[in-house]
Amino acid sequence: ERRDRIRNFSIIAHIDHGKSTLADRILEKTKALTQREMKEQMLDAMDLERERGITIKLNAVQLEYKANDGEEYIFHLIDTPGHVDFSYEVSRSLAACEGALLIVDAAQGIEAQTLANVYLAIDNDLEIIPIINKIDLPSAEPERVKQEVEEVVGLPMDDCILASAKDGVGIDEILESVVKDIPAPAGDPEAPLRAMIFDSVYDPYRGVIVYFRIVEGTVKPGEKIRMMATEKEFEVQDIGVFTPKPESKKELSVGDVGYMIASIKNVSDSRVGDTVTHAKNPAPEMLPGYRKLNPMVFCGLYPVDANGYTALREALERLELNDASLQYEAETSQALGFGFRCGFLGLLHMEIIQERIEREYGIDLITTAPSVIYEVVTTDDEVLEIDNPSHMPDTQKIERVSEPFVKAEVMTPNEFVGPVMELCQKKRGQYIDMKYLDENRVNIVYNIPLSEIVYDFFDTLKSNTRGYASFDYEIIGYKESNLVKMDILLNGEKIDALSVIVHRDFAYERGKIIVDKLRDLIPRQQFEVPVQASIGQKIIARSTIKAMRKNVLAKCYGGDVSRKRKLLEKQKEGKRRMKNVGNVEVPQEAFMSVLSMD
Ligand code: GDP
Ligand code: MG
Repeated sequence: ERRDRIRNFSIIAHIDHGKSTLADRILEKTKALTQREMKEQMLDAMDLERERGITIKLNAVQLEYKANDGEEYIFHLIDTPGHVDFSYEVSRSLAACEGALLIVDAAQGIEAQTLANVYLAIDNDLEIIPIINKIDLPSAEPERVKQEVEEVVGLPMDDCILASAKDGVGIDEILESVVKDIPAPAGDPEAPLRAMIFDSVYDPYRGVIVYFRIVEGTVKPGEKIRMMATEKEFEVQDIGVFTPKPESKKELSVGDVGYMIASIKNVSDSRVGDTVTHAKNPAPEMLPGYRKLNPMVFCGLYPVDANGYTALREALERLELNDASLQYEAETSQALGFGFRCGFLGLLHMEIIQERIEREYGIDLITTAPSVIYEVVTTDDEVLEIDNPSHMPDTQKIERVSEPFVKAEVMTPNEFVGPVMELCQKKRGQYIDMKYLDENRVNIVYNIPLSEIVYDFFDTLKSNTRGYASFDYEIIGYKESNLVKMDILLNGEKIDALSVIVHRDFAYERGKIIVDKLRDLIPRQQFEVPVQASIGQKIIARSTIKAMRKNVLAKCYGGDVSRKRKLLEKQKEGKRRMKNVGNVEVPQEAFMSVLSMD
């Protein structure tokens, strides 16, 4: 039966351990394509994108493989996003598979993301095939890494396949192992339809293209389907597989991985993790594991130029079409004017969206420091969720405040254990565990407030360990903390966009750092500007921006015109990211600086 010859799998790895290179090798081997043909095929796909208007995202490719047993197998290779912000998407991609290739760099060994991915694979009951890659490197230590795989991941070291994706070593063994070790899909093709959505993209011509895996039942074009979580119904227009170009099919059944087009207007109608069933004869229950993703990190986005507000709203509307986890709502700041409060899955997600708004839509942004959601219980027993520090109620109205914590795992060579622990302590971390992976590498576990992670934890970790440490985290829940709102005043005026929430024990120290930093970042004005930090009515730190001594242009009058023009241009450039706050000009960096610690 065809279904017995299907194998669905993903490749999981820490970044740079060789996932893309191995995927390329597998594509070559299975399609017997030359590099040139492969390029042509990709170009084909792009032409098709123009002609038929189908967005191609190579995250589920169907491949054919003739195994040593003489049979033709159908592989679906499902790609996974590679960042902690998207771990739910990774988990759903893995849920569409029966197996995973686990790649570990033979010179680096197991890193934080390796473990995080392994946990996700185990949660989804996948058969894991361990691969030690880059054995061609002079610094490769395959025996040591095999042992690490056995000790840390719990897979027998003899099962490890030694490979060099670069040189094409071990690829046949990997493909045979996919056939032998990964089970064929199980499931009843006659049962009511249940298909899991693991990704979707918005296409301007065809609407949403859903990427899904049929777990039970069969689906055909023309049928009416229902999304079980969102309860939206649509008529299937086209279904098919990616080879890698989209190829329409008359039906998709158990074990198939492919796409569906059904006049869906918005990706939020086809959420990752949702179950597709038929409108008539629906499945009684959804597939397990559906979760509506809630944003964890919030910040304010404001156009530098107040006229950019409408353009910014339009940009967010467009981006939302393609991103079900992006949230935004209009917000007004006394300091920054009209803008939006936006919610993101994490910092990377936030950076991606900011960058796209600036690049693709040409809007210059002022972004406020990222914040998490604080849970506040007031003295009237009201529960508030605060995603903007300036909305924090007055101290005397607060009974208690809780904040989200993460379990952070840092893997580092043992020479950096000191600096890593120091950083975690400084970020209010609670020590949980420390384990040696081998004689020179350590896994350190801390519970740390998410608010301390969102700003510069990762960058500081990298610089304190000369890039050798790797890091991963998962949200573990809310805990009470002794937190207060700290306001910043410029020229005696409270600047709402600069308010931060800090731990009371660190308030004085932070306040001092922030006012000094602002003093250095804000250019001199015509007059002296006091910078103050306050908690409630109490000023806890102060510094002063001295008045400008003379007009910069004064020197140039009567002088060299081109020099004058250059100076003006330079000033203009500097001004691009300045915002007039009250009567003080404040640069973009100032809004981010409130979270910085040194
Ligand atoms: P990914 O981030 O996991 O997708 O990793 P890539 O496939 O992009 O590979 C990261 C880097 O490692 C690239 O520079 C590759 O050329 C290199 N690389 C991948 N596989 C091998 C290998 O088997 N041997 C060597 N020496 N380098 C490799
Ligand atoms: Mg890659």
